[in-house]
Amino acid sequence: MLPEAKTYDVLIVGLGPAGATAAYELSRAGMSVLGLEKQMHPRYKVCGGGLSVRIDQILDSDFKAVVEHTVYGIQFTYGGQEPFFIESPRPIAYMVMRDRFDHLLVEKARRAGTEVHEDERAVGFLQSPEGVEVTTDRGRYRTKVLIGADGANSIVAQRLFPMRRLHRMPTLESEIGIGQAPVYPGEGKVLIDLGATASGYAWIFPKKERLSIGVAEFRGRAASPKGVFERFVRDEKGLASLEVPQPYGHPLPLYSRRGDMAPVGLVMHRALLVGDAGHLVDPLFGEGIYYAVRSAQIAAASVLGIFHDQRRSLLDYERAVTREIYSEFRIASRVARIVYTFPRLCHRLMHRYQEVINLYYDVLQGRETYQTFFHKAKGVVKASFRELLRETLPLR
Ligand SMILES: Cc1cc2nc3c(=O)[nH]c(=O)nc-3n(C[C@H](O)[C@H](O)[C@H](O)COP(=O)(O)OP(=O)(O)OC[C@H]3O[C@@H](n4cnc5c(N)ncnc54)[C@H](O)[C@@H]3O)c2cc1C
Repeated sequence: MLPEAKTYDVLIVGLGPAGATAAYELSRAGMSVLGLEKQMHPRYKVCGGGLSVRIDQILDSDFKAVVEHTVYGIQFTYGGQEPFFIESPRPIAYMVMRDRFDHLLVEKARRAGTEVHEDERAVGFLQSPEGVEVTTDRGRYRTKVLIGADGANSIVAQRLFPMRRLHRMPTLESEIGIGQAPVYPGEGKVLIDLGATASGYAWIFPKKERLSIGVAEFRGRAASPKGVFERFVRDEKGLASLEVPQPYGHPLPLYSRRGDMAPVGLVMHRALLVGDAGHLVDPLFGEGIYYAVRSAQIAAASVLGIFHDQRRSLLDYERAVTREIYSEFRIASRVARIVYTFPRLCHRLMHRYQEVINLYYDVLQGRETYQTFFHKAKGVVKASFRELLRETLPLR
């Protein structure tokens, strides 16, 4: 006879930033929490490791111990040409290596009381009115609430949310060791190239001893992502002397919606999806870590809500995500449609209207939202056009 499965208040599948954050928040509030992770931390994760500094508003400052680089500006290029740099007086982003960052978050959850099972993969889920039974490659557990935080290839989403068939965009990334050599594109800078791909961008995000180099398509698919990556590396002068290892591929589960329909739900009975598992990735530049942490915090608050007050519902989570995150992603999607349809024009306009980039930096710093950014950016561009017309039209 099978031994009786142990029951938890909350079981979390996947301990990346989303799962580790949910585990920490729920454990410190006194819930019994089991976190399952199929790998062993610290583990490598294909990721640029760029955190917009508004993460300061939602994470305790102890993560600064693993920040490798603080970024003050972006070097923009187009197919390796037409470079320009726009700097902010204040930091706009932090650079982390995901093995160290995620490990720090998992250890914090463990210290708060989460039972962490590493090297254990969740494989099956059975919903019941009381909760969910989870089978792994090592055992069986019962939980009152299940949180799917298992990333872009989420098995929780596949099994319990079969209607969620959303796009995942292909990406390729490689890490180049630079040892003690000076970082490229320079101290306090990252590089973004809108001309390297058909409808996406290529990046160089520097760390202490390496450069994370990648390419991602944001609309449509590249005929050969590997060809795009190789061309970017070849055309980018700063990489000429460096040996670039073969890139790894990983899907990017961008926020997407079909027509005017909102994305299919994030809650199914006693299960919910956070972070990449829920496609909570910014459709403009693919920022996902901030939203993984934030969605996990919102999810944890909703879960605590139903334990404390039976009239509350897990759907509070979905409503809060719609209010706080989807409202932002809808605007980011509109901006992305313009940028990736007219990348060359946008590259040149960004050079000309640097105030717009400064406004975008305000979004990264948490001083503006995408909604206020869009409104103000339109104002800047309209005013500049009016000025241009006045300058170029003959005086009567
Ligand atoms: C090439 C690339 C570059 C990126 N660059 C950036 C960037 O610079 N900045 C940024 O903000 N975002 C970036 N992102 C997005 C970012 O990596 C993700 O949004 C972020 O990792 C989401 O965190 P998560 O916790 O939801 O998922 P993940 O970090 O993917 O964590 C999921 C965890 O679940 C575990 N898991 C999976 N299946 C199971 C299972 N069955 N059982 C148990 N455990 C399981 C995995 O091992 C993993 O540890 C990038 C993504 C890619 C692909």
